[in-house]
Amino acid sequence: MTDTYKLYAIKYGTHDPRPASQNFMNPPDPHDAPYPIDYFVWACVSENHTVVVDTGFNEHSGGRRGRTMFRCPVDSLRLIGIDPDEVTDVVVTHMHYDHGGNFDKFPKATFHIQDKEMSYITGRYMRYPALRNSFDADDVCELVRDLYKDRVEFHDGDDELFPGLTLHHVGGHTQGMQFVRAWTERGWVVLASDAMHLFANWQHKNPFPTVLHIGDMLEGHKKVVRLAETPEHVIPGHDPQVLEMYPAPSKDLEGIVIQVDLPPLKPVPQA
Ligand SMILES: [Zn+2]
Repeated sequence: MTDTYKLYAIKYGTHDPRPASQNFMNPPDPHDAPYPIDYFVWACVSENHTVVVDTGFNEHSGGRRGRTMFRCPVDSLRLIGIDPDEVTDVVVTHMHYDHGGNFDKFPKATFHIQDKEMSYITGRYMRYPALRNSFDADDVCELVRDLYKDRVEFHDGDDELFPGLTLHHVGGHTQGMQFVRAWTERGWVVLASDAMHLFANWQHKNPFPTVLHIGDMLEGHKKVVRLAETPEHVIPGHDPQVLEMYPAPSKDLEGIVIQVDLPPLKPVPQA
């Protein structure tokens, strides 16, 4: 039996000011126009399962990169009734510092990651600062420690985590980049994470500049859209516009949490 999921995006940080040149390989003019991005963690909740998607950065890893952290991404899960101490499944879309930190705050969780991501973050490419800059060695070591405690589950390509919740490898941004697709009341919704940072990266075929393989990243945008019911079922990983597109689960969470299993209040913006 396929579960029907409620899906939440929680905004925990931002990078503002930030120039457009940091978001596009071929930035629009003027290159230094302000183009802030937001940081999120996500949760998929059904009758039978609670799955957290990504775990965010901490004060140190975000702070040293000039990012603003509004609230601890893990503690923020309590806002929607999730106790991180009891979470059993965490999907790690990829291990960049803003997605794969804070594992110590999930004492009971198994971390789901692609084979290719683990080999990437512990392999030869990490000799190059251009590729390793977005990772934190402490996060990688924590994941390896969890592996030795039997708390890492590997996925190779596309996989079903639970009925109604699937994982999809794309690569591109990192070697093992994966996204999540969940069955909801409005059909299949894709939590793209960094398989699509911003709607505009996909709309203009203009990739985000942090990238291992440009072709795989562009193909990844296509796969994200193909596996979603419609483009309005795609939730990009860093686009501040999603906050205006989707309703908050309650009045007091406005501006912090959105519920993306519900239909959008407005259409996908045309950038
Ligand atoms: Zn990211």
